[in-house]
Amino acid sequence: MPSPTIAIVGRPNVGKSTIFNRIAGERISIVEDTPGVTRDRIYTKGEWLNQEFNVIDTGGIDLSEEPFKDQIKHQAEIAIEEADVIIFVTSVREGVTEDDELVANILYKSNTPVVLAVNKADNPELRNDIFDFYTLGLGEPFPISGSHGIGLGDVLDEAAKHFPDKTYTQEDSMIYFSLIGRPNVGKSSLINAMLGENRVIVSEIEGTTREAVDTRFVSASGQEFTMIDTAGMRKRGKVYEKTEKYSVMRAMRAIERSDVVLMVLDAKEGIREQDKKVAGYAHEAGCAIILVVNKWDLLEKKTNTMRKFEEKVRNEFLYLDYAPIIFVSAKTTQRLQQLPDLIERVGLNQNLRVPSSVLNDVIMDAVAINPTPTDKGRRLKIFYATQVSVKPPTFVIFVNDENLMHFSYSRFLENQIRRSFEFEGTPIRIIPRKRK
Ligand code: GDP
Ligand code: GDP
Repeated sequence: MPSPTIAIVGRPNVGKSTIFNRIAGERISIVEDTPGVTRDRIYTKGEWLNQEFNVIDTGGIDLSEEPFKDQIKHQAEIAIEEADVIIFVTSVREGVTEDDELVANILYKSNTPVVLAVNKADNPELRNDIFDFYTLGLGEPFPISGSHGIGLGDVLDEAAKHFPDKTYTQEDSMIYFSLIGRPNVGKSSLINAMLGENRVIVSEIEGTTREAVDTRFVSASGQEFTMIDTAGMRKRGKVYEKTEKYSVMRAMRAIERSDVVLMVLDAKEGIREQDKKVAGYAHEAGCAIILVVNKWDLLEKKTNTMRKFEEKVRNEFLYLDYAPIIFVSAKTTQRLQQLPDLIERVGLNQNLRVPSSVLNDVIMDAVAINPTPTDKGRRLKIFYATQVSVKPPTFVIFVNDENLMHFSYSRFLENQIRRSFEFEGTPIRIIPRKRK
């Protein structure tokens, strides 16, 4: 289930990223280990009173080519569009500035709830200076100190009051998918082409505005899909939509709600670092993945063009060896009609459960081919294996000592499992556990 989202807005230097880092807290190290969400992250998870939420630091969305006023305006718009609650950060040291008023005016006109934080209130005297901020018309100002970690709890308490009720229940038979990829790879062209070929279900889904931009359709086989809008396809033309960071953030948000992710690549432009980061995130999240090479019409085809391209893609996405690759063109619609069936197939694989008896036969056969590793004279002993969950399929392997299960052996077992069962398109997880 997707978590509520908080966006942090405010003019530069008020302390947005300081606050963002505090909210992210100890989770940051986890996030930093995930490919793609390093240093310059603008999107992370936080937790308050056992409630998980997402946080966006709009200040990190680089719009530096734009005039200053437009930048803060666009950051506020992004917050309104993406968030359930906005934390508007100001600074007691500078008082209410013209730029604060500019941001306040934009926020004031939206329906998104706003919590007004007055930062840099490091000591009690400064905390008395916050009353001016009532003039922004956004209700009670909360004095905080991001760098000292004071007052943030009150702000989060207030924000949590506005978290939406759990309205996003997902339907079991439905497959939720999204198209992710850099700006201009052709995501919205593909979406429009796909929707042109399938029967779109017009429904009035109640709930948040974000859910309303999801599109439901039925494929020829009768499978129902919900396509999660990734690129703001429905309302195009905003400057920030074509920035890399915004597209990464959008992708990460979509991945959270998706069963299947279509990683769209541009045949002409090739693969970029950004693509690998986002795909890595989808893999970590347990999504089924299809690599979609779009704009195939732009390549001059010689013998083996496709095979060579596939090799290149495989080399760049080593850990995605399970993901099918399809070469399409949104322009000519080449092979697009195969996409729904492919999504359905990998979606089913992601839900596959294998019986323990068969699984254990496979594992024992595997051990017979390739004996378990030893370390300092001790050998890994496997007792039995069982599948504990789907989405993605997750296997617990009971062993004498989980430290003896080396990555390479785990990888070998994964390959053996993949040989025996149809897990194309989905990551699988293997968790060694010491038998008590
Ligand atoms: P951003 O541009 O809004 O993201 O602001 P930063 O988080 O980068 O902070 C700008 C400057 O303000 C940095 O030098 C921070 O160390 C400083 N700063 C942030 N929070 C506080 C605070 O609570 N008190 C004081 N005194 N300085 C702060
Ligand atoms: P998005 O930013 O990923 O949503 O990309 P768009 O769908 O806006 O496409 C970016 C540009 O690529 C547009 O000019 C499209 O017309 C073009 N484009 C998209 N798909 C194809 C394709 O399959 N072939 C060709 N030749 N151009 C395409």
